[in-house]
Amino acid sequence: MTFVFIKPKRKVTRVFWHCTATDHAHHDNIAAIREMHRQRGWSDIGYHIMGHKDGSGSYGRNLELTPAAQAGHNAAAIAVTLHGLEKAKFTTAQYNFARDLREQIDRAYTNGVTHHGHCEVAAKACPVFDYRNVLQLDARGRPAPTMTPTVPKFVAGGFAAADSDDFALPGRLLKVSKSYDDAVDDLQRILARHGYDPGTIDGWFGEQTEKAVMAFQRDHGLVADGKVGALTREMLIADPHLKAA
Ligand SMILES: [Zn+2]
Repeated sequence: MTFVFIKPKRKVTRVFWHCTATDHAHHDNIAAIREMHRQRGWSDIGYHIMGHKDGSGSYGRNLELTPAAQAGHNAAAIAVTLHGLEKAKFTTAQYNFARDLREQIDRAYTNGVTHHGHCEVAAKACPVFDYRNVLQLDARGRPAPTMTPTVPKFVAGGFAAADSDDFALPGRLLKVSKSYDDAVDDLQRILARHGYDPGTIDGWFGEQTEKAVMAFQRDHGLVADGKVGALTREMLIADPHLKAA
């Protein structure tokens, strides 16, 4: 079941992202984390929302209450945690959950809040995972400019410079999928460089990316099936427009 974010009535200006700092499966639930936090002398779990390794989410502390999660920065904050410690052990499902939650929160606050890692306000590695990349944030903690969650928008040249030499795609079929895929992120950048709007550059192959692929295919005499197989891949990478851009 999809996790549904319900906006609290109290004032919120920032969302802090954490990890639970344990990879034990028996800690992958609210009760276990609540118990750990109570042992620290707190009245309840410090986090409002927890993302489990299977991609589901749970509510912890009542969202109407101030969190106990990032010392000195709890006021007007929401605290979210993903279960995990080692970077490699966070799951794609969790990242999908986090990304979806971030979008729900931004919709609820019409982009009026900023998102931060615990590490921004404490000398800690928390949340360990690459939260800016996973959540698609700019350095100020807002959805990156080309990645507005409600209205995906292609900004010409806005993200091309750093990736101009990096046009590679794996030799496997890329098509509409509900999972995050690094290769799809590359595909979206390449499509954008060709002048096709893939929507949000986020590694998720959705309807807008499919439309961009189909438009590219039509313009290049390929079967417009919206899937990136060998021929489309070759054409995407070989096209001279890329080098000229
Ligand atoms: Zn933390």
